[in-house]
Amino acid sequence: MSEERSLNFIEEIIEKDLANGAHKGRVHTRFPPEPNGYLHIGHAKSICLNFGLAKKYKGKCNLRFDDTNPVTEDTEYVDSIMNDVRWLGFEWDELHYTSDYFQQLHDFAVKLIEKGLAYVDDSTAEEIAALKGNIDKPGSNSPYRDRSVEENLELFAAMRDGKYADGEKVLRAKIDMGHPNLLLRDPIIYRIKHAHHHRTGDTWCIYPMYDFAHGQSDSIEEITHSICTLEFIHHRPLYDWCIEKLEIFPSHQYEFARLNLNYTVMSKRKLLQLVNEKHVSGWDDPRMPTISGMRRRGYTPESIRKFAETIGVAKRENLIDIGLLEFCVREHLNKVALRRMAVLDPIKLIITNYPEGQTELLNAENNPEDENGGHREISFSNTLWIEREDFMENPPAKYFRLGKGLKVRLKHAFIVECEDYKTDENGKVTEVYCKYFPESRSGSDTSGIKVKGTMHWLDVNTAKEAEIRLYDRLFKVENPAAEEGDFKDYINTDSLTIIPKAYIEPALAETAETDRFQFLRIGYFALDKDSTADKIVFNKTVGLKDSWAKEQKKG
Ligand code: ATP
Ligand code: MG
Repeated sequence: MSEERSLNFIEEIIEKDLANGAHKGRVHTRFPPEPNGYLHIGHAKSICLNFGLAKKYKGKCNLRFDDTNPVTEDTEYVDSIMNDVRWLGFEWDELHYTSDYFQQLHDFAVKLIEKGLAYVDDSTAEEIAALKGNIDKPGSNSPYRDRSVEENLELFAAMRDGKYADGEKVLRAKIDMGHPNLLLRDPIIYRIKHAHHHRTGDTWCIYPMYDFAHGQSDSIEEITHSICTLEFIHHRPLYDWCIEKLEIFPSHQYEFARLNLNYTVMSKRKLLQLVNEKHVSGWDDPRMPTISGMRRRGYTPESIRKFAETIGVAKRENLIDIGLLEFCVREHLNKVALRRMAVLDPIKLIITNYPEGQTELLNAENNPEDENGGHREISFSNTLWIEREDFMENPPAKYFRLGKGLKVRLKHAFIVECEDYKTDENGKVTEVYCKYFPESRSGSDTSGIKVKGTMHWLDVNTAKEAEIRLYDRLFKVENPAAEEGDFKDYINTDSLTIIPKAYIEPALAETAETDRFQFLRIGYFALDKDSTADKIVFNKTVGLKDSWAKEQKKG
């Protein structure tokens, strides 16, 4: 899927490094998720970037679980993340856990203490905050800042040995309380937390802070290009400070703009709220911007990779239109989806001149976009299901579907002409009567009749029942996180429509969740995991209408 395009700014940096012989011509990236939630489409962007660069420059990419916070992390998340990365089409060269480096990180902290560059502080969180100063005002030194190396070593060992309660002491880097960058005003690098870690159990009761784990982990793995999102730009001087003072492998951090999509939220914390408060059925609810939700909805890895490639790598944040993602999904599904017929809101069409009890099999192409797509046989009889909206009692001009006296082609079958219809006691149409033209059969039409419309249909005798789930945006506003009040106030309560009894081609009763379908004239669909032998459930992935391309033309 690679198209000619100019280099993004990270590729430019890498190519310059390669030209200068930096890192002995090596490119080694990593994707470092914290296992505290499921991955979302923003992470997909980062995955495509990091793994994509490794692939392009014949380098390596690691998957590293940034698991330094024992409280919020879980192996369920670890498993889902590995699954999602692989589903997107990538395989890591090395698998690591920051927790595997706890001993090494501890030893790095000891080294800083020995160099007189870290101290144990007994101040409370409030006291530390009070001395921090602000952008306009320098901070002031903690009364514990000048402890001796020996005392600091002893106290840090006691912290590690569990002699103190949570929050009683912290280890801080000794940098500069007047530094213009607040993150360098003696940042906390270790804290006490008596909590069970999902991998290291109760081995540790002190845990490194992000800034004392991330860069060092990069360095331990000899990562050459550590790519993260823009909000970490102010952390870079601290990243560099630690590497310099510890005299370890000089990994370097580069920042790009995070992906923001409209009509959704994209922080794991917010997504977790949607799950816990049951606004959605789970992390993989098809309305969620998670990779697992998109997979369940029927998105393909190809389409997500294409989307990541299309939006590119920006240096400034923006809000991307969800329509662009849907465009990429539609474009890929158009190529690969098997064409099938389904009727979501059925009424009966009875062919008055077709012999009662007769059935014939018609040949139907599986995918006109795919030469090797093959064919299937579909059955035809005198009683069919058609879509309610394909019939009108008083059709206006240019209505190229059915109404009394109007003719249409039934896809893969015959031309029919409507002669009459029946309504129930409420005036609702229940049956439509047509005659068919035997010589108009698709593929061997000698009728000479011209019609403008083609409709989908199903043979009542063979159609299977299915539940169909239709989805709309999860939020009513473009940027719920930026609105006043709680983002959950902007949830679209009509985002799920369930059609309990629709009809589908019999072949659709036996499909896999990985199969992708286009229901003719309706949209793209995929089997939902809730499907059982007794109840088939399909999710609408995306509609056929290409509103994005239209918008582009207008714009
Ligand atoms: P969130 O804010 O959604 O909880 P996070 O940044 O805390 O996300 P991590 O697990 O720390 O999530 O992220 C792993 C990697 O994915 C990081 O390198 C991070 O920069 C990147 N990433 C996270 N969100 C996005 C996004 N919206 N766009 C691009 N990259 C992202
Ligand atoms: Mg994070």
